[in-house]
Amino acid sequence: MFDIVIIGGNISGSCAAINAAKNGIDVVLIERNKEMFNPPHCGEGIADITYDYLKFGEVGCKKNQINNFTINVSDIKEYKLKLKKHYIYIFDRNFAEKELLKRAEKNGVELILGKRMKNFNPPDEVILDRKKIKGKVIIDASGISCRVGQKIGLCTKLKPEDVGVCIQSRVESNFPSDKVQLWYHKPYAPFGYAWVFPKDNNTANIGFGIPGGLKLDLEELLNKYIKFVTNNDYKILHTFRSCVPSAHPLKKLVKNNVMIVGDAARLSNPATGAGIHNAIFSGSLAGLIASKYVRGEIPSLDEYQVIMQKKVTRLIKDYHNKTMLKTDEDFIKGYKKAFSILSILNKISPGIFQNYVAKMLKRDFDILDKYKR
Ligand SMILES: Cc1cc2nc3c(=O)[nH]c(=O)nc-3n(C[C@H](O)[C@H](O)[C@H](O)COP(=O)(O)OP(=O)(O)OC[C@H]3O[C@@H](n4cnc5c(N)ncnc54)[C@H](O)[C@@H]3O)c2cc1C
Repeated sequence: MFDIVIIGGNISGSCAAINAAKNGIDVVLIERNKEMFNPPHCGEGIADITYDYLKFGEVGCKKNQINNFTINVSDIKEYKLKLKKHYIYIFDRNFAEKELLKRAEKNGVELILGKRMKNFNPPDEVILDRKKIKGKVIIDASGISCRVGQKIGLCTKLKPEDVGVCIQSRVESNFPSDKVQLWYHKPYAPFGYAWVFPKDNNTANIGFGIPGGLKLDLEELLNKYIKFVTNNDYKILHTFRSCVPSAHPLKKLVKNNVMIVGDAARLSNPATGAGIHNAIFSGSLAGLIASKYVRGEIPSLDEYQVIMQKKVTRLIKDYHNKTMLKTDEDFIKGYKKAFSILSILNKISPGIFQNYVAKMLKRDFDILDKYKR
């Protein structure tokens, strides 16, 4: 019997593992892929504060600093935003994923890579191919599939419109390396958005995400967008399709001995799909609280739910705002309003919005630091 069994070895799972194992707890992490995807299934955008908190820079994880945004709402309006003080980085996620697994192993986590959890027998038994593993605490970090959560009734299958269906290419061309470009809605990303996230002057992640259920030729749309943003001068190195939850977060993140983290808990932002920060925060917090529970310092895992509630409430609000934008007109009006406010704020007081976001992210890390003491 392990103290903690973690299903999923990406960002939320490895953060849970590291933080639990640092407390001397017996942890096993099960990841179905033998090696993490390279290129990763991600735009690779991360807030500077989050990147710095995990000390990725100190171990040589490459980053490209973004100072500017150009945002188009359909072909109706263009906004330009300049970032000051706090920045977005386009980082090397594959490097970071490998680094986190390395840190987990160094702290004594047993890694089982290339093996899928086939089934879960509540309350504590994880079934692999030829092996059964038991844990006092089970952490579900299995991403959008939420394997354990489904089994114990904490999460149900997502509706198509609550899934962000994404396609992305790694593209070679000439890019202004300090600028992210976003295109909301038609013609490139109906009811979603397309992005150019430059990794440097010559390479970028170009992709889009739209709600599930729209019967569209994703590859054709992406090629159209790539041609547009590169003036038809490009080379595609790699393309993948993937999904991110754009859903109502789970109401319950804990049931008895099971905790749900990251995308499994639907903690990615329902409007933007950004989920790295919340995966890091929820995974780390779950690992810390689970280890306190195993050591007998707290009577239950409910503390995780209590601390996460503020974030869940904010995400529920974002989800409801997203569901209001049903027609072309709603969608355009909604995003025009949001970006107009943002761009006015950015002109009057550059940095005001970024400082607000930075404060929220810092608050999360203050919580983790308090638990680590
Ligand atoms: C195209 C795309 C671009 C994105 N870009 C950004 C971005 O730029 N910035 C940002 O903040 N967010 C972005 N996101 C969202 C972000 O990638 C996710 O929110 C984040 O990866 C969630 O991390 P996670 O560890 O919770 O889940 P995941 O990354 O989904 O990891 C789950 C892990 O569990 C494993 N697993 C699943 N089932 C099993 C099983 N049965 N047994 C064993 N292992 C299992 C999987 O192999 C996987 O490694 C993007 C998402 C997509 C799809």
